[in-house]
Amino acid sequence: MSDETVIIGGGPAGSAAAIKLARQGIPVRLLERKPGPHHKVCGEFISYEAAQHLEELGLNFAALGAEPIRHVRFYNGESELIFDLPLTAWSLSRRLLDSALLEQAERAGANVALGTVVRQLSRTDDGWRLVASSQSSVRPASMEFSAKTVFLASGKHELRHWKRNVKESHRQNMIGLKMHFSPSVLHQDQWRNTVEIHLFNGGYAGLEPIENGNINLCFLISQDIYKACGGSWSGILERLSRTSSHMKQRLATLTPCWCEPLAVSGIPYGYIHSPDDAVPNLFSLGDQAAVIPSFAGDGIAIALHTALLAAHIHASGGDSRTYQRLAFNDLTQPVRDAERLAGVLSHRLGRKTAFACARLWPGLTREMIHRTRVGQSNRMQ
Ligand SMILES: Cc1cc2nc3c(=O)[nH]c(=O)nc-3n(C[C@H](O)[C@H](O)[C@H](O)COP(=O)(O)OP(=O)(O)OC[C@H]3O[C@@H](n4cnc5c(N)ncnc54)[C@H](O)[C@@H]3O)c2cc1C
Repeated sequence: MSDETVIIGGGPAGSAAAIKLARQGIPVRLLERKPGPHHKVCGEFISYEAAQHLEELGLNFAALGAEPIRHVRFYNGESELIFDLPLTAWSLSRRLLDSALLEQAERAGANVALGTVVRQLSRTDDGWRLVASSQSSVRPASMEFSAKTVFLASGKHELRHWKRNVKESHRQNMIGLKMHFSPSVLHQDQWRNTVEIHLFNGGYAGLEPIENGNINLCFLISQDIYKACGGSWSGILERLSRTSSHMKQRLATLTPCWCEPLAVSGIPYGYIHSPDDAVPNLFSLGDQAAVIPSFAGDGIAIALHTALLAAHIHASGGDSRTYQRLAFNDLTQPVRDAERLAGVLSHRLGRKTAFACARLWPGLTREMIHRTRVGQSNRMQ
């Protein structure tokens, strides 16, 4: 039995755990199915809480060219609400963020294997057996690993036999789409330091500047809207531009960078790993631990928080049940509050009331954002 800890998945959760474990002298192997840098469906928003963790892990946002985010513009039809963030957030494409973290993991001493897909995870008498295959086009190969402890950080992807125990009420019919655009020279300044959230019936969209001056558009729409647009990208954009004159103006001044958008579906918003489902020596991190509604922009912070908590508990000899219980305690309130808020904002009247209340009591927006954040934990210091 190898005394390596094996991490499945090289997103923010897997890489952060690898860095933390390797820095503490624990032998760690990280298996990531993608062979190199790649885009992911994501708003690319790095909350202040996530940024704090990332800086501690060694990332330098300025050096990576990330855009500081200081303002949020909310839109509900023609209504606009501008909010200044109390603490600076960042915007960086996932392609850059995830690769920078993987490099940092290697630098810390983790054994990182890219292009390696874990096909099977099974229990043995004293730990785990993993069957993986390499994605290499030159020499595709099957391989096996053994480990006493496994960190499961495969994001939205389920491993055969280790699927998340998702309740029916968390199975949603939303489709997530993402596209990078280049803005016209005339409109570049309107994007500086600003993220926009456009709310509409059947979904919402986020627009924000990223490292190279391009703009990321990421949005969620119901399957009904998707079908009504015939599933075509041009039809969906046309439908989006009808949500408000603001969105119409944005889309008219943006040029798509790719031929096709990235898409994802079946995201179990509201899922939280129950401590009752804890399995000895298996730590579930990131989206495998909890899935917060995307508009909260805190999924990366949750990935990092759970990774650092799991690494801390594992390094200090604690077990996975203790970890899953503590993670559950930390994640339940932000995920449930974000779900409640998403419920209110999904209705026309709810959005109107929320905008009116936010204008009357400016502290309310700050309080709502605060309630959807997973806090820094003293336990990990
Ligand atoms: C529409 C949308 C918008 C979002 N916007 C934001 C936002 O703006 N800000 C924010 O903070 N969060 C956002 N999120 C959430 C955020 O993207 C996730 O919470 C975050 O990526 C979770 O990190 P992770 O490491 O758990 O998983 P991932 O980032 O998904 O990483 C999992 C990794 O595991 C690898 N993998 C999967 N299966 C295997 C396997 N069998 N073998 C080997 N490797 C495997 C994958 O290739 C992947 O690299 C958004 C989510 C959606 C759907």
